[in-house]
Amino acid sequence: MNHDDPLFGAGIDTLAIRAGQTRSAEREHTEAIYPTSSYVFATAAEAAACFAGTQGGNVYSRYTNPTVRMFEERIAALEGAEQAVATASGMSAILSMVMAHLKSGDHIVCSRDVFGTTVNMFSKVLARFGIETTFVPLADLAAWSAALRPNTRLLFVETPSNPLSSVADIAALASIARSAGALLAVDNCFCTPALQKPLELGADIIIHSATKYLDGQGRCLGGVVLGSAELMAEVRTFLRTAGPTLSPFNAWVFLKGLETLRLRMDAHCANAQQLAEWLCEQPAVEKVFYAGLPDHPGHDIARRQQRGFGGVLSFRVRGGREEAWRVIDSTRLLSLTANLGDVKSTIVHPATTTHGRLSEAEREEAGITENLIRISVGLEDIADIQADLRRGLE
Ligand SMILES: *Cc1c(COP(=O)(O)O)cnc(C)c1O
Repeated sequence: MNHDDPLFGAGIDTLAIRAGQTRSAEREHTEAIYPTSSYVFATAAEAAACFAGTQGGNVYSRYTNPTVRMFEERIAALEGAEQAVATASGMSAILSMVMAHLKSGDHIVCSRDVFGTTVNMFSKVLARFGIETTFVPLADLAAWSAALRPNTRLLFVETPSNPLSSVADIAALASIARSAGALLAVDNCFCTPALQKPLELGADIIIHSATKYLDGQGRCLGGVVLGSAELMAEVRTFLRTAGPTLSPFNAWVFLKGLETLRLRMDAHCANAQQLAEWLCEQPAVEKVFYAGLPDHPGHDIARRQQRGFGGVLSFRVRGGREEAWRVIDSTRLLSLTANLGDVKSTIVHPATTTHGRLSEAEREEAGITENLIRISVGLEDIADIQADLRRGLE
């Protein structure tokens, strides 16, 4: 970007609405969807040059698609990344990043509280290909350092964590990674660039499940890997070869989602903060986990590295599974679904759903007790969300 570019030095809302857009000869105002698998050439010589890469231009939508490119450029601008590579889902973003930068014999250190499917990918799928993973408690920097091996190539962290809102110090992890000659990848799904900028804190790579807050309205799946041009070149090569590319329609939905990202995230944070404080006052509630509460162990780090505390919280009711299920089954407004990051509030019982695959001992260690409930706080009126929960808490 040069100084003549109207987006040079622009703020986050301007970038979210304007960055990356290109217009066709039709001069459409909004971003166009290009549902095409391939592109035509004017001459055989041009086709040869495009295939050889000596001339730029679209060849095939597994390689490039104009709508997907607009989304990549917009999210890259928001994260302050040189490049973004869009993928078909959050999981294919993680897979593409690993396939691009790790090989058999390499070692990963990963925070224990990451998304359940990420745990499965690392401990089951990658293990079959000779990549070993050590899981560590996310906030324990000494544990991260102790887990390092000479072949450690990647540190992977998701912060704040799901569902207990634990917070990892990204800058500290970046320096641990640097000292080990490893890359630090941050899954920034819960905060989005509206609340947290991992690259500015020293991370090498950012992962997104665009399925969550980037869309924000629960419509489709997608993912993104972001980082330097050098690191993204390998990711792009893997994606073009293996093929988990983002569809142009989904890219367009995410482009529209990004336009309201900062507004939505601020509103999610405000609702979640109010709900967390209200839950603390309910006699039937034993404990609330939200980094926006001053007594949460991650509060100070979150204040330092995040612009807001996010939209996901969890709480323990007095009692066990029966009492937790009663609260969940008494709701009529909240959606009982495992998805999160939606304008619609969602409620789930982690021990028997999202974390059901863990053994009882693993759940115990991770703090996923039978009386724990997770809420992804949406944008409905806070009074209505409270009324919906009050029924089961009384
Ligand atoms: C949902 C999620 C993923 C996986 O994304 P998909 O789009 O479902 O493949 C990865 N990380 C986090 C933190 C998530 O919440």
